[in-house]
Amino acid sequence: YTPLAQADPEIQALIDRETYRQFRGLELIASENLTSLAVMEANGSVFTNKYSEGLPGARYYGGNEVVDELERLCQKRALEAFHLDPAVWGVNVQPYSGSTANFAAFTALIQPQDRIMGLNLADGGHLTHGAYTPKRNISASSIYFQSLPYQVDPATGIIDYEALEKQVQLFKPRIVICGASAYPRDWDYARLRKIADINGSYLMMDMAHISGLVAAQVQNDPFKDCDVVCTTTHKTLRGPRAGLIFFRKDKENDLEKRINDAVFPACQGGPHNNVRSLVIVRNFNLDMSLHSQTIAGVAVALKQAASPAFKEYATQVIANTRALGAELVKHNYKLQTEGSDNHLVLWDLRPLGLTGSKIEKICDMAHITLNKNSVPGDRSAATPGGVRVGTNALTSRSMREPEMRVVADFLHRAVQLGLKAQAEAGSKLLKDFVARLTGDGEAAKELEQL
Ligand code: PLP
Repeated sequence: YTPLAQADPEIQALIDRETYRQFRGLELIASENLTSLAVMEANGSVFTNKYSEGLPGARYYGGNEVVDELERLCQKRALEAFHLDPAVWGVNVQPYSGSTANFAAFTALIQPQDRIMGLNLADGGHLTHGAYTPKRNISASSIYFQSLPYQVDPATGIIDYEALEKQVQLFKPRIVICGASAYPRDWDYARLRKIADINGSYLMMDMAHISGLVAAQVQNDPFKDCDVVCTTTHKTLRGPRAGLIFFRKDKENDLEKRINDAVFPACQGGPHNNVRSLVIVRNFNLDMSLHSQTIAGVAVALKQAASPAFKEYATQVIANTRALGAELVKHNYKLQTEGSDNHLVLWDLRPLGLTGSKIEKICDMAHITLNKNSVPGDRSAATPGGVRVGTNALTSRSMREPEMRVVADFLHRAVQLGLKAQAEAGSKLLKDFVARLTGDGEAAKELEQL
């Protein structure tokens, strides 16, 4: 193998720049994390060269004896990491990502045009939970299924379980979906189970954001009440980019066969080429990948997630979010739900008259990465009124409460700068700031327009 640095120095240079960017700045994007070297190594191994459609012991290609062992080990570790009894729960570890896991779960559970209910996108739900806009169905989950989103209570920011119950009685969905991308509170699964039972609906949890916290048992346990639990593996779980689907081994409904068939051949097939590791690409110049490669990385991450060190990590994530949130509140800022139970706070900038886009941009220029996010009640999704701030990646860098207070202070300064810049649009202050950070006059103009 010719090392990447020699075979393609241009790509190598981009990888080096991205590595530098990730470690130079402060990463506050709640859906990202810094995975371990071991995960990255496993993720770029020679498993990349192997086709393995099918399930362990029933493949469509020969030469899968090692892959079979790998996949079985990954399944075992997935069940162990989430404290599940293999007699009651099974898992499919093949989904390429969270979106494909969710779509495969829908494919397994319901028919085209059946009804689903997930949390409204603007209230923190994910696109794949049936999102649409008044103009169009923006997700396959609303193109192929009839979707009616439920909301949070605008006064508290907490899921409005009473309203949901009434909506479920009227709409009679086949699946009630819980889980979110920007919801700072924990879920009342027992209550959701009762609501789903009104019409005999499936209860599906998409725990993508909080799965690391669930594995560490520092959040409520979705497995007690849900029929199917999907997740990504790369957010708080800190693995490579992939997905998992857990299902109850319910003989009557045969969820095991339906989920497995939905993943392959219904929704997935052969290789996908999106999973590469910095280290391995650099060392071995491998440039093909498929799910068995991801499964190796997932297996390593799941082993780590079952360790006492990971429980400490997850506990610290929550402590850090609380410390960061408390510091922002001290500066008189408004947080949705006035705090957080998990790894993120949703910061409402509307009382200040600032947009999330502006703060995202200012923070970007200061090498602080976060994302604009709509907050419940936003008038336009195009100009969201808040930002989502997650502590999972900084906690992976061993930061604790004292560092969180410093980060909150940086954020406070960014907002103050945004306010000044807004008051004196085009002012010398703004131009000086942008020039100092970026040397780019165009960026100043762009910032004024946000
Ligand atoms: N589900 C939730 C709750 C998410 O937040 C996300 C992504 O952010 C996904 C699913 C989709 O995951 P992926 O980007 O791996 O397809």
